Amino acid sequence: MAPRSRAALDFGDVDGFEQRLARRLEELQAAGLRRALLPLRSAQGTRVQAGDRRLLNFSSNDYLGLANNPGLREAAHKSLGEWGVGAGASRLLCGSLGPFHDAEAALARFKGTGAALLFSTGFAAATGTIPAMVGPGDIVILDRLAHACLVDGARLSGARLRVFRHNDPADLERILRWTASRRGDGAVLIITESVFSMDGDLAPLGELVMLKERFGAWLMVDEAHATGLFGEGFGGLVQQAGLSGRIEVQMATLGKALGSAGGAICGSPTLIDFLINRARSLVYSTAPVPAAAAAAKAAVDFLATPAGAARVRRLWNNVAAMRERIRILGWPLPPAPSPIIPIILGEEHVAVAAATALRERDILLPAVRHPTVPRGRARLRLTLSAAHTEAELDQLTDALARALPPPPRHD
Ligand SMILES: *Cc1c(COP(=O)(O)O)cnc(C)c1O
Repeated sequence: MAPRSRAALDFGDVDGFEQRLARRLEELQAAGLRRALLPLRSAQGTRVQAGDRRLLNFSSNDYLGLANNPGLREAAHKSLGEWGVGAGASRLLCGSLGPFHDAEAALARFKGTGAALLFSTGFAAATGTIPAMVGPGDIVILDRLAHACLVDGARLSGARLRVFRHNDPADLERILRWTASRRGDGAVLIITESVFSMDGDLAPLGELVMLKERFGAWLMVDEAHATGLFGEGFGGLVQQAGLSGRIEVQMATLGKALGSAGGAICGSPTLIDFLINRARSLVYSTAPVPAAAAAAKAAVDFLATPAGAARVRRLWNNVAAMRERIRILGWPLPPAPSPIIPIILGEEHVAVAAATALRERDILLPAVRHPTVPRGRARLRLTLSAAHTEAELDQLTDALARALPPPPRHD
């Protein structure tokens, strides 16, 4: 084979790279799966400024309207003044700043666990924690709809993976029976979310705990969408179910109801000590901005006050009010209330068209598509905030009535 000239090789490679990616983008476009960023010129909130349009936002996980809250801003400012911006290195390398420890103590109290450990994101918490706990020779059993970071963490671990039907304890039991003869002295780790991020439904935690105890398995519960919203102290669905002491690993995110950024693992002091030694996303990653931890701690403190409780109540009032409006429009609802209400439209292009029609009515409610949800299950993922007003719920309802195709017929 004749050697190619150097110039031809260089150009060939560059074109090959760009063309290949461009072709894949075109394929995504044709399938209704292409995504794009929407730059905002205002802070996160129920109203956001995009270009010259002011949009009513029903897509954020800022459930309590804390992302731009004065109390949290002040906590972050104060922290910036005292601790600066950057943490310098991994917490193991150059010392671990006070705000991380303060936030961890607050989170452990909040969750009713012996200890807590912060990560830079929830995603990093999952991908660091799961491979630290299990590996080849162990078995991980995931709910079919578990979040991408839980799937990636499980894959990264090298453990054998099994998936049980969404929220189906009978199917989980079938798999647990299968593990009994195959696990040897390996561990079995069950992983689920408590409030599912794209469906808004709730895991049957009591039944999962009974099963995991019967079969000697461990349970990890991702409370990304429950932390700050459920339970007596708003610690999450695990707290509400009274199961805190019976679940090995609780995971939280600080970037949703808590209005800040970061992830946390809550559990026994031994678990936390172990993760400090073995969780690679903690050990080999620069610690987060301390002001983010300070803001999250301010959110946890706020939730312990009457004003915090009133804020959560306002969210649940909005959830009840919006569920009633959706029901009247004829769309099916998740059985139990949560601030996530999916309107499942099915075909990807249909969901994109609905989102576009809503945008034309100044409503920000993007289509969620594969691979975030299964193919053919594209949807509008409507999320509510305590900061939405009744008039804004009316505006959304009116826009939905005009922008959506007819609801599915009940049979
Ligand atoms: C958002 C989310 C995460 C990731 O948390 P981040 O802090 O945003 O990285 C993990 N699990 C679930 C279920 C989520 O919805």
